Amino acid sequence: MLNLSLQSLSLGLEKKTFSSQELTKFYLERIKRHNTSLNAFISIDEDKSLLMAKKSDELIAEGRPSPLTGIPIAQKDIFCAQGWPATCGSKMLENFIAPYDATVIEKFNAAGAVNIGKTNMDEFAMGSSNETSYFGPVKNPWNLELVPGGSSGGSAAAVAARLAPAATGTDTGGSIRQPASLCGFTGLKPTYGLVSRYGMIAFASSLDQAGPMAISAEDCALMMNVMTGHDKRDSTSVERDKEDYMSQLNGSIKGLKIGIPKEFFSQGLDPSVQTLVESAIEQYKNLGAEIIEISLPNNHLAIPVYYVIAPAEASSNLSRYDGVRYGYRTKEYDDLMDMYFKTRQEGFGNEVKRRILIGTYVLSAGYYDAYYLKAQKIRRLISEDFTNAFKKCDVIMGPSAPSVAFKAGEKKEDPLAMYMQDIYTISTNLAGLPAMSIPAGFTNNLPVGLQLIGNYFSEAKLLNIAHSYQQHTDWHLQSAKGFD
Ligand code: GLN
Repeated sequence: MLNLSLQSLSLGLEKKTFSSQELTKFYLERIKRHNTSLNAFISIDEDKSLLMAKKSDELIAEGRPSPLTGIPIAQKDIFCAQGWPATCGSKMLENFIAPYDATVIEKFNAAGAVNIGKTNMDEFAMGSSNETSYFGPVKNPWNLELVPGGSSGGSAAAVAARLAPAATGTDTGGSIRQPASLCGFTGLKPTYGLVSRYGMIAFASSLDQAGPMAISAEDCALMMNVMTGHDKRDSTSVERDKEDYMSQLNGSIKGLKIGIPKEFFSQGLDPSVQTLVESAIEQYKNLGAEIIEISLPNNHLAIPVYYVIAPAEASSNLSRYDGVRYGYRTKEYDDLMDMYFKTRQEGFGNEVKRRILIGTYVLSAGYYDAYYLKAQKIRRLISEDFTNAFKKCDVIMGPSAPSVAFKAGEKKEDPLAMYMQDIYTISTNLAGLPAMSIPAGFTNNLPVGLQLIGNYFSEAKLLNIAHSYQQHTDWHLQSAKGFD
């Protein structure tokens, strides 16, 4: 049951093997049993979820289901879902109840999916370990002493421990792919602009992108069919015909040219991760792909560039939390200024404050040219590296993260070490490209992810490349033990 694909669950619902209410109760029970140890969910609302399930059962009875009708999906707490809390992992939004639906939520609702709960995350999606959440850290189901990755750590733990059949995440610099790697499941960050950002609490608007987190590439394809589409309410949403990702999964990778960037296999990569990633690539070769060495010469600049641009955008986006419009307000204050200061001092955690300070600094007169503008220029060079690479290959492969899951607390006080977690993921966000992480094996009982990076709007191709690997391996079907 726990490893069933979304399509099989859908079939079960259609054949009345089980109802959506039964399925929803089943997962709510699992959440009740295991959330105390994992802390994957910030809010659950049984009545709301079961009401949604009841409506889905009605749709099924009327013969009007769509592929996700009746299926429980965990939603990252960065999305506004009407009537549900949307905390974004912050004290600032602890008591905020979303008054409207994000486009992503609206689309899942329209498809008849059931919201099974809102998942824990790093505060305002800033982090790689889920330790910056105001609601406490999330534990990695493979080993409770380790982090699940971040910032979508709650969704990651939920999928890895099968507390939900699938979840949503957002990826600004790696937050879908790095946790997918550390927790052993499949995650996709789409091309920038393919999924609407409307109602998704903003971190760094030119980088933020929502995507699916699920067991398999096939499940991700089904979710992409729901999540994508032009949205007038997001000015960066692309106007493009909607694709059917499911129908393009044929499993064939004949003639595929895989580019291997030499920069992804140098210093800093854990040797046991490297071995597994290399053997996954070898498997692709055995399936008929051609391997080509490529170079992404500016990749080493991605982290410094990101940590100028993302904080700059965050400092602007987070200025709305002023204690006036919504969210937390300090209890006692002398005047308006004092109220602003105390509200932000008390409402934000340390990592968020660090980013606001960096962002304000790099945007200030006198430093703007030296930092922000320079970073934007290098961002262009990083994109051009990919444009050049895709002249030689169809897909780029490498590790998703430099290591397996690390110990809680290990990097918490060392921001630079933490930032290095995204060394292989950040450049694709800067370029706006789609990328996936898929399970590629285990070392010391811990999962390792293989990253696939594609050209713009090549999601269908990426999903198919991932699908072909998953038809020949069962790494993605392994789930953490102890969560019966
Ligand atoms: N780890 C990166 C950061 O801390 C990326 C986070 C994300 O993708 N949301 O900013």
